[in-house]
Amino acid sequence: MTPQTPSQAGAAVKAADRAHVFHSWSAQELIDPLAVAGAEGSYFWDYDGNRYLDFTSGLVFANIGYQHPKVVAAIQEQAGKLATFAPAFALEARSEAARLVAERTPGDLDKIFFTNGGAEAVENAVRMARLHTGRHKVLSAYRSYHGATSTAINVTGDPRRWPSDNGSAGVVHFWAPFLYRSPFHAETEEQECQRALQHLEDTIAFEGPATIAAIILETVPGTAGIMVPPPGYLAGVREICDRYGIVFVLDEVMAGFGRTGTWFAAEHFDVVPDLMTFAKGVNSGYVPLGGVAISGAIAETFARRPYPGGLTYSGHPLACAAAVATIGVMAEEGVVEHAAHIGATVLGPGLHELAGRHPSVGEVRGLGAFWAVELVRDRETREPLVPYNAAGDANAPMAAFAAAAKKHGLWPFVNMNRTHVVPPCTISEAEAKEGLAALDEALSVADEHT
Ligand code: PMP
Repeated sequence: MTPQTPSQAGAAVKAADRAHVFHSWSAQELIDPLAVAGAEGSYFWDYDGNRYLDFTSGLVFANIGYQHPKVVAAIQEQAGKLATFAPAFALEARSEAARLVAERTPGDLDKIFFTNGGAEAVENAVRMARLHTGRHKVLSAYRSYHGATSTAINVTGDPRRWPSDNGSAGVVHFWAPFLYRSPFHAETEEQECQRALQHLEDTIAFEGPATIAAIILETVPGTAGIMVPPPGYLAGVREICDRYGIVFVLDEVMAGFGRTGTWFAAEHFDVVPDLMTFAKGVNSGYVPLGGVAISGAIAETFARRPYPGGLTYSGHPLACAAAVATIGVMAEEGVVEHAAHIGATVLGPGLHELAGRHPSVGEVRGLGAFWAVELVRDRETREPLVPYNAAGDANAPMAAFAAAAKKHGLWPFVNMNRTHVVPPCTISEAEAKEGLAALDEALSVADEHT
């Protein structure tokens, strides 16, 4: 048999994918997934030799970039030692991962329940809150994403829930603050914050405080638009939760583990939730892992009464070994500090500079390695570049934007009328500048639709 060229190998990968892989969130025949041959650091490449700077970190998980040798070695070492084992035993990798996570979570979130990803973390956080309070309702924000399993998709607020929403009894959505498209028609951050808190209070009053188990919020909502909450908002929600005995859940699946320039985004707002979900960055996605960090009071509920939930792979040794290594790398290499620095000195200023020159940019917002660029047809009216939840032809301007970025070697994160700049937290200054230059080119294509 003649040896395959790389292009032929890529074509074979693609053919089998097209024949047999059923992809997430997709009309199966309308997609054309790139066959990826490899990845390292902030880049990945296909079989034809095209290399892309990854401004997506996968799905915002590769916080330390791809193929970090220390994490790869730790997974190999763990596989050689004990590749798998059941959850009901104390295991070195799991104990150490739990200790390292608990050391970094705020307040007394000192017990860690491990899951395989973010949605399962949300499922279990909601279950814990319901059992702890004996109440049923969960309040969550419209502009949010919490995962695609049954409870998590119902709790999710954005259009991704529409096709699967079974109207789960007890999930109530409310508006969280977002000044650029203010649900409260506010003009300042102070107004937005104050009106959002009043709206939450009103919602609670009409739902009945004694029926509400939890309020769940992404600390900085991610896929729904990287909307940094105004000062005082999360502290206000904390105070409301305390007043009504409601469990406050912060979802840090995307914002956690360095993404915002702190270990957890909650640190920016000086707020400590009762439960905190995490996944993605905990081990940079090298092996699926997520979890819930649990406060002392909620852990106490299950001290002498069994917690009625569990997973075959809770705290899988390979995933936990990857977490121990990733957290070690983040500490040794100053990854969290680097994310803060690159955001403050390169990404933030660079994106604001682009906004000044490109009429298609309506707003730039974010922090650390977590930025959103909101694309509009008209800066005055803020009409989005594509309609809300657009598909097909209606989405053509965003598709053209993405194609232009790829042509210039940048893989962009695109969601509705936004591009999110969410590269690995380890991205170098030169790489960040290279990505901004490609974005400059792609924004010129978006400008044609203004
Ligand atoms: N919560 C948030 C904030 C997320 O961003 C995500 C994933 N994007 C999830 C939950 C769900 O995580 P997973 O896809 O690992 O189930």
